[in-house]
Order: sequence, then structure tokens, then C-alpha cells
Amino acid sequence: MKKIILVFILIINLLTPTHTAAQYGSKLEAGFSNVALGGLVGGVGAVINKKKSAKFGKTFWKGFYKGAIGGYLIYEGKNLIHKGSINTNSNYYWPAKLVHATGSSIIENAAANRGMLAQIHLTFGFNRIDCYTKKKFKLRYRILSSSLLSGISYALKYHFDIKETFKTGVFIFYDNKDFNINNRFHGMELSNNVVLSKAMKLFQSNNLHYSPSQNRFGSLFRFHVIGHEIIHTYQYESTFALNMFLNKPLKKLNKIKVVNWYQKYFYTEYNAVLFRFYNTKNRNNFIEKEADFYSINR
Ligand SMILES: [Zn+2]
Repeated sequence: MKKIILVFILIINLLTPTHTAAQYGSKLEAGFSNVALGGLVGGVGAVINKKKSAKFGKTFWKGFYKGAIGGYLIYEGKNLIHKGSINTNSNYYWPAKLVHATGSSIIENAAANRGMLAQIHLTFGFNRIDCYTKKKFKLRYRILSSSLLSGISYALKYHFDIKETFKTGVFIFYDNKDFNINNRFHGMELSNNVVLSKAMKLFQSNNLHYSPSQNRFGSLFRFHVIGHEIIHTYQYESTFALNMFLNKPLKKLNKIKVVNWYQKYFYTEYNAVLFRFYNTKNRNNFIEKEADFYSINR
């Protein structure tokens, strides 16, 4: 019963009108999609990873409610990015990252059918740290394989910006050559790494605010682009829970020495496959709409 009340409170919270009535529907949609997706992934994962003797329905519900709580935290993390974007304030980035990472960890735990806070992870570019809270407190470092590869591909082409990286909590590169990346984008994201256009660098200290009649490249526009790309890294990270679906077969593979060594130091992002076939030309999809939703004044 307590669990039902908790999920109910989350739903009521989503219904709290903090925006005008006209925008109400989209806030609800945004919150629900995160809670529902978190719940679904948590529930399905828990069933996949359940003990043979455990009951299907009970296991699914347990995973679902944990995943829903994780999804709600993900939603709140994204809301902090929205606050930072519209207030042109980078102080929101790290709190957003921590709230989001907690939410993402909870969904991962739900999908792995373990305690809600059994393992909390934090990623920074290609680095992943897991904090184990069960039995004995333990820290574990692993390299995110896809994030490392995308980071290398960006490093070969673009300029790594350490200051901006620590400010945002996301690996940031700048395209120092072209005003727009590939003559099309001001920002681009691939497996936890972000590239910003030369224009974004040029207008770093510009205090003009975006409006159709003004210069497009004001600080507000810049914060919109950064916020948009940070949301893409969050979307990527929140699909880490899907990797838990493969826990059982991967455990078997661990008997092979090389695989065992590899899995000790590397975390394979099988979820990256989902984003490989993503069409960047099509901006009319959930991923892009959500990234805009949390980075522009609505
Ligand atoms: Zn985008």
C-alpha cells in the first residue's frame, strides 16, 4: 500500500501547475514519459533478472515502482537544466547532474532486480564510478567504451575545453574552424560527448538576449544550445538501465578470461546501439522535442 501511495504522490506532483494552463499538457507529458519509461524498464528488467522461484507479477511491480521513482528524479534533474537554461545560470548544471545520476542509478538497480540504492553511478565523459552501498561501502572505476571512442573521435577533430567541461559536468569540445558544425549545427552530442560550434565560443561573453528581432547569438541562445546537448547526454545515460537486460548472458561470458579482464575495467554501453541509427536530420521526434522542452523558455 505504501508503494501505491508513493507513486500516487509522484503523479500528483507532476500535475502541480507551475506553468500556464496552455503549457500544462506538455509538462504533464514530459513528466509522465520519464516516470512511465523508468517504471517500464525497471519492471521488465526486474522480471528478466528475477530468481526462478520469484513471482512474475510481484517482481514486475517492485521493479516498476522503483523505476518510476528513478524516472521522476530524472525528470527533476532535467527541470534543473531548464532552470539553468532560462536563467542563463550554469550553477544548476552539477546539481542537475547529481539528481539525474541518482534517478538513472535507481532505474538501473530496478532493472537489475537489486536494492533501490544498492549501486549509485556517476559518469563524467568516458569515466564511470560506481558506489556500492550494500554490505560494505565500495567504489569501482570503469571506462565507458562507447564514450571513450566518441571522445577520441571528437578529440581528433575538435578542441577539448577543460573549463567548460568542469562547469557543465559534460565533456565539451569546440569546433574552432567552422562557425557552424558541418554548416548546420551549433551543438552535437555523441555518447556523452558534446561539440559546440565556433559561434558558441565567440558569443560566450555576449550578453545579448535572443529574440527574433535581435542577434540570435545571445547568451540565452548559448545556454539553450548547451542545455539541449546536456539533455541529450542525460537521455543517453538514462538508457544504461537497458544494459541490465543482458546481465544473465554476460555473467556466463565472464567465465572466459579475456572477457572477465575486459569487464573488470570497461563498461560496455550496449545501449549506444539505439542511438547509432538516429537520424540527426529529423528534428521532429521525441528525443529532439524533449531536449528543446528543457532548454528553451516555454
Ligand atoms: Zn538535439
